[in-house]
Amino acid sequence: MSYYHPNFDVRKKFCECFLPEPREEVYAVVENMHNLVDEVIMPLRRDLDGGWTHDQAVADVAIATAMQAIYDSGWPRAILPEEKGGLGGVMKSMVTYAMLIEELGRADCGIALDVSLLYWFYSPMLYAGRTDLIDIFGPPLLDGKHHRACTSLTEPAGGTNIDDTTQHGRTLRTIARREGDEWVINGAKIWPSGASVADIGYMTLTTTDPNLGDDGIKLIYVPADAKGLSFGKPIPTMGMCCTDTNTEVFYDDVRVPVEYAATWGTDMKDVDLFKELAVEDKLTTPAYVNGACQTVLEILLDFSKDRIVAGKPMREHSVFVHTIGGLIHMWDYSRASYMQGCYMADHPEKYGPLWGKFMYSRAASVDQACLMAARRIIETAMDLMGSYGTAHEYHLEKYYRDVKQAELWLGGRYRTQMDVVLDYYDYEWAGPKWEPTPSR
Ligand SMILES: Cc1cc2nc3c(=O)[nH]c(=O)nc-3n(C[C@H](O)[C@H](O)[C@H](O)COP(=O)(O)OP(=O)(O)OC[C@H]3O[C@@H](n4cnc5c(N)ncnc54)[C@H](O)[C@@H]3O)c2cc1C
Repeated sequence: MSYYHPNFDVRKKFCECFLPEPREEVYAVVENMHNLVDEVIMPLRRDLDGGWTHDQAVADVAIATAMQAIYDSGWPRAILPEEKGGLGGVMKSMVTYAMLIEELGRADCGIALDVSLLYWFYSPMLYAGRTDLIDIFGPPLLDGKHHRACTSLTEPAGGTNIDDTTQHGRTLRTIARREGDEWVINGAKIWPSGASVADIGYMTLTTTDPNLGDDGIKLIYVPADAKGLSFGKPIPTMGMCCTDTNTEVFYDDVRVPVEYAATWGTDMKDVDLFKELAVEDKLTTPAYVNGACQTVLEILLDFSKDRIVAGKPMREHSVFVHTIGGLIHMWDYSRASYMQGCYMADHPEKYGPLWGKFMYSRAASVDQACLMAARRIIETAMDLMGSYGTAHEYHLEKYYRDVKQAELWLGGRYRTQMDVVLDYYDYEWAGPKWEPTPSR
């Protein structure tokens, strides 16, 4: 690592007031991940990107090593309930999850995403209390090997429209038709992470009828080997070039049993579970980027210590002292903001369910604050380091690309900003004016 300061240590940066009990156990788990990241994943960073040429074969070897170390730590099993082999205790907390993601984000956001994809995939069935679905889709998490899952939401007509709760799913065109004891799914998605490489399954956002709005929404689990499921080629992207795979996903008369719908046989509403996914994502994406920003700060502190400007180290000139202080403060308050949001998520008895208006708005607010801060931190570090910031050798350019990607996967800053007001007043952005075309 380039620069060390004790304020970057797990016990200093993560304030214990947000942690679940027993707190000592949380710190031990996160410190273990911190060490794993330093020892195994940090040295692999360039290879995880496939080197300068983004060679997927190079990356695949590094990804396999990094992911196996994470699976050996046992963490992915924590997703399952204890009675199904899960870890229980402090591992059930969103705070613990976010801290672990931040540690991974220090090295590589794409590796952190690989684990999060599992969390997103399983969370609707867990919130709906569907132990029968856990019996079907859960076993891969117990064998200690690297597995992938996919959450398939975004469609060619625009992801933001779909994420936008004021549009009530009316733009969805992936249709689930009920035929006897089966759902028959037709439609297309684009951009889902893990598409084409997921071996566990595809948690697919569908509608039974776009005209039904929220009532039509259905989250349906599709096994990875389902007949009628096919994929486009991986879309080369700016960041997480080799660690994330994004493709089109085609559903042609894909048939799954009716009970593969996440809320089947329960009182839960699919639209609530869809909101829950958005909230989980908005509260934990800041953790990825805060981890990345920590490393960026370490790179900058190291660089500015040795870079001589007008006869003395860059970081000792008042203009740079001021700028660097501003970046550290943004990094600090971002963590405080998302840790508080995760703490609230861990306490629904006080703050309501994740799909409630309060948490929905709060998560959007946290996401906005942290992503704006991350952008400022990385862009400014790049400015201060000049051409050195753009050089592959310094790693900064990779964090720059990865963080921008992470910002966009939630629909970008404009969409998220609009979600903030939803707990303050009601508005319908496009819902009432929407005139769906008959889709079948
Ligand atoms: C790295 C990465 C990983 C991803 N992983 C997944 C995944 O796992 N699963 C998945 O389903 N998708 C995934 N996506 C896709 C992602 O969710 C979408 O890209 C995102 O929702 C934006 O959709 P879009 O790209 O179609 O842009 P658009 O929806 O067309 O948005 C483009 C711009 O227009 C603005 N805009 C459009 N409509 C509105 C509106 N109604 N209100 C306000 N602003 C609006 C947006 O804010 C944005 O600035 C991923 C994307 C990336 C980059």
